[in-house]
Order: sequence, then C-alpha cells, then structure tokens
Amino acid sequence: MIKQLLNILCCPKCNNKIELSKNFLLCKTCSIAYPFFNNIPNMLIDDALDINKIDKKLMHSINTNKQ
Ligand SMILES: [Zn+2]
Repeated sequence: MIKQLLNILCCPKCNNKIELSKNFLLCKTCSIAYPFFNNIPNMLIDDALDINKIDKKLMHSINTNKQ
C-alpha cells in the first residue's frame, strides 16, 4: 500500500519524488524525512526531520512501535 502511495506522493516542499526508508519517507533533495505515525506518513513540512539529525537509535525506537 505504501509503495502504491509512493507513486502518487511527492515532497510537498520541492515536489520531487520521495523515497521510502524503514520508518520514514525521505526527500533527498530537501534532506528531510517525513515520519510515520500509525503507519501513515506525516507529510507536514513542519513535522519533517532533518535527515542528518536522524540517527539509528531513533529509527529503532520508532520501529519497535510498529511491531
Ligand atoms: Zn523535497
């Protein structure tokens, strides 16, 4: 389902394609990541995270919520 969404969704900031990572939708053009909440991607620019500030600990903690 998410992969189907990826064909539709683009970065609301730059309108480029976004990539799916484990727990985030990534826009490499903007270097920001949109987190998932309850398996729904949060596409709000205000809630997007700086890719460079996301470390693996955060990815793991979010991942445990999904399991
Ligand atoms: Zn972007």
